[in-house]
Amino acid sequence: MPHGHLRVVFELAECREESVDIFFSATTDRDIEYAKRICRRCEVRADCLAYALETPQLYGIWGGFTADERVVLRRGMREALT
Ligand code: SF4
Repeated sequence: MPHGHLRVVFELAECREESVDIFFSATTDRDIEYAKRICRRCEVRADCLAYALETPQLYGIWGGFTADERVVLRRGMREALT
């Protein structure tokens, strides 16, 4: 993702005024669901998820997916391409 695009994404991010702890310290189902609810109403969710999958981001909730869920997504993408 070009750097300029990343800046635009974060300017539009639903989480821009939230604590990062919501996305990086969520461990209970309730906290994870709270973070995911923020992502679900985020207009740059697809860009955020693509960035997290491409870089790849190994921690935190990005684009409404936990790190474990992104592992499954990446595996599915790899299998679809073989
Ligand atoms: S999808 Fe979630 S983590 Fe990503 S920018 Fe939007 S609110 Fe933040």
